[in-house]
Amino acid sequence: MSPHKSSDIRLSALENAMMQFDEAAGMLNIDKTMLEILKQPRRAVIVKLPIQMDDGRFEVFTGFRVQHNIARGPAKGGIRYHPDVSLDEVSALAAWMTWKCAVVGIPFGGAKGGIACDPGKLSRGELERLTRRYTADLIEVIGPEIDVPAPDVNTDAQIMAWIMDTYSMHARHTETSVVTGKPIDLGGSLGRREAPGRGVLLTIREACKYKNIDLNGARCIVQGFGNVGGVAAELLWQDGAKIIAISDVFGAIHDPGGIDITALKKHVSETGKVAGFEGTAEIVRDDILKMKCDILVPAALENVITSKNARNIKAKIVAEGANGPTTTNADKILESRGIFVIPDILCNSGGVTVSYFEWVQDRIGYFWPEDEVNRRLELIMAKAFNDVLEVAIENKCNMRIAAFMLAIKRVLDVTLMRGVYA
Ligand code: NAD
Repeated sequence: MSPHKSSDIRLSALENAMMQFDEAAGMLNIDKTMLEILKQPRRAVIVKLPIQMDDGRFEVFTGFRVQHNIARGPAKGGIRYHPDVSLDEVSALAAWMTWKCAVVGIPFGGAKGGIACDPGKLSRGELERLTRRYTADLIEVIGPEIDVPAPDVNTDAQIMAWIMDTYSMHARHTETSVVTGKPIDLGGSLGRREAPGRGVLLTIREACKYKNIDLNGARCIVQGFGNVGGVAAELLWQDGAKIIAISDVFGAIHDPGGIDITALKKHVSETGKVAGFEGTAEIVRDDILKMKCDILVPAALENVITSKNARNIKAKIVAEGANGPTTTNADKILESRGIFVIPDILCNSGGVTVSYFEWVQDRIGYFWPEDEVNRRLELIMAKAFNDVLEVAIENKCNMRIAAFMLAIKRVLDVTLMRGVYA
């Protein structure tokens, strides 16, 4: 637990996830034993991974896999490679996956994994050996019916291919549905890479309908220009929105007339950063959070909107592309100021939804065209948004509490139906 409980700026992801759970569960009047079952992870595995480095030395890395809940189906969640990966962070992300899958109504529980490492300092060979050893050490706890990993920060389709191959070598047959987010030619789904950003767009469209905002011409600001932020910015721009500012880890750019996202993508692929893009002004990176706009999309990191800066946010809608960008205290400030927040477990759930489509396609061995994937995604995201909105209106609460209430109730209902095996 963090020693800095009074400051939400220092709250750990797990503390934040627990506070969100407690607030929503408190409104549901749940039996104490059930609360414990729903709150705690059902299984947490820590593995020590000795890896031979390119220079012949051995280095020992630590890996984690946490399965939070499997009441609704196999555990599901990404794998993160980052120096800050810890049991605490992985546990929070695993719990969010349980609620995310329940909000969109797909038949999965929640899990998350990670390895504490700096992938930027590892060669391709070291990364492959680390991934294969991690998979081999988790061989009994993952599987198409058990727990299905996917990419997260610093992991990609290639890493999923190595996991799939290692698992298949042990199973003695090819088993594509053990992971999602794979290369298309190895059982991946069309539309999977774009799905988290597309889901962000789809929930923004619904929010604009509800808040009577015309998305065509709406001023948007996007923090982060990676997989989620980059795709969300591009699709918003294609929908007629004006992207007036964008940031990445290195800096931020501003153009009140709207940024041409296709041209920006080309600039970023050549230079590696958004700064320096022709026709835009460079601004201080974190100042984009204070700028006036209709829609703000935090799509980079956790804990960026806190009690320290929530009063400066001047957006009508905050659409959480990232996981955990807003602390519980900041939520209250945004709510009191009438800012409509589309919570992460709803807003960025397009990724896991298309992961579910990938798992289904792998298991039936028949692959859908991209427009079919996108059509089904749109149906699920629009329904999830309106299900959450209904709970929010009925209970006079914000969208985050409503999303948690809906998700917790769905998991609780199946847990009670299954009964407790004691
Ligand atoms: P990514 O690594 O592709 O992109 C992250 C982007 O954020 C990069 O452009 C980076 O430069 C930028 N960034 C980092 N620190 C920043 C800072 N301080 N200020 C501004 N920009 C900064 O990662 P991603 O896959 O796009 O994930 C982003 C977030 O979305 C994470 O919270 C992740 O958990 C969440 N998410 C990802 C997926 C997915 O499938 N990739 C799905 C759901 C949620």
